[in-house]
Amino acid sequence: MKLDVNVLRYLSKDDFRVLTAVEMGMRNHEIVPCELIDRIARLKHGGTYKVLKNLLKHKLVHHDSSKYDGFRLTYLGYDFLAIKTLVNRGIFNGVGRQIGVGKESDIFEVVKEDGTVLAMKLHRLGRVSFRAVKSKRDYLRHRSSYNWLYLSRLAALKEFAFMKALEEHGFPVPQAVDCNRHCVIMSLVPGYPLVQVRELQNPDVVFETIIAAVIRFAEHGLIHCDFNEFNIMIDDDEKVTIIDFPQMVSVSHPNAQMYFDRDVECIYKFFAKRYNMSFEENENDSDGLEVEIDEVGWPQFSEINKNSGFLDKELAASGFTRKDQDELEKLIEGELEKQSDSDDEGTADEEDEEDINNTNVKQLESLDLSKEDVNHQAGDDKHDDNHQVGDEH
Ligand code: ADP
Ligand code: MG
Repeated sequence: MKLDVNVLRYLSKDDFRVLTAVEMGMRNHEIVPCELIDRIARLKHGGTYKVLKNLLKHKLVHHDSSKYDGFRLTYLGYDFLAIKTLVNRGIFNGVGRQIGVGKESDIFEVVKEDGTVLAMKLHRLGRVSFRAVKSKRDYLRHRSSYNWLYLSRLAALKEFAFMKALEEHGFPVPQAVDCNRHCVIMSLVPGYPLVQVRELQNPDVVFETIIAAVIRFAEHGLIHCDFNEFNIMIDDDEKVTIIDFPQMVSVSHPNAQMYFDRDVECIYKFFAKRYNMSFEENENDSDGLEVEIDEVGWPQFSEINKNSGFLDKELAASGFTRKDQDELEKLIEGELEKQSDSDDEGTADEEDEEDINNTNVKQLESLDLSKEDVNHQAGDDKHDDNHQVGDEH
């Protein structure tokens, strides 16, 4: 998604006041009636409608007059609110190129005043879940009342809280810098996702580091749940950094064993295929992917000494509550089931040559929602939110 932040410079205080009013109105309105926007914004000299027209011109709001005259935020409008807040806090002052399109996010470089480059992840949780709704998946149909503002914000808060806690426990993760709405600011990880790395000097060392990390996660009460070559970054010195945490679950989750095994299996399969590593006694076996678990010491979930207190105590302290976790887990469960289903549909060979392209295709598949599909689901946010008009001026 194009993010022309130059527009930010031309937006006045009133523009942001009205944009924030639309955001606040969306807590309980899918489309926020014009009068309500006007009442929340309380512009000193009036003119809310004129401001709305300007916001519309910049695609920060969407106009809908099908039921009544009203507006709602677009992704871009929400992006701008978060960016503005973070710029006001002095976290960064410029937005650079886009460095990633995940299935549920857009990632950009941002620059601080002193020239330091950081990574900004804008969560777009709605686009996957609504696609699932669209494809009439039973497990998500009843959750259509979740909206993208709320979900994306919850995902960002979770990612930030987990990243911070993991960092404090010495895990190789980016440094969590700040978080606002659906936006997480973190250190820029050097290197590339493992999926783009053709050759490694020491594949066995990298492999062991990665498996050791997944075991340590479990020892700390956590399972990554999307632990694969897309979410592991490798730099020129083959240093490993793990990213992407919104889907992490506790080891006390009912499906913990399955998620753990799947994370581990992903790594074994990838290393076997990409770096021709063998994990078997008997290498004559068909495709080299049949890993004999016991012989290679495949980590056994049941044997890991788990300390599940980590999640509850430390994360609650960071503002991400158990209730937040439960709600997000419910949604993610649906997503994980869906992933397992589609895993079964493809063969390993299909993922062969053009891994990078495949990534894009796979990730872009998730984006096939037209904006309108998302729009129809927006709003209906019953959850409270602390933003106040005027907060960020
Ligand atoms: P998603 O949840 O959408 O999969 P990710 O967090 O995995 O999002 O990010 C998508 C891509 O963006 C990654 O594969 C990586 O290439 C890039 N990326 C994400 N975070 C960083 C970071 N901190 N530093 C550098 N690149 C990053
Ligand atoms: Mg990812």
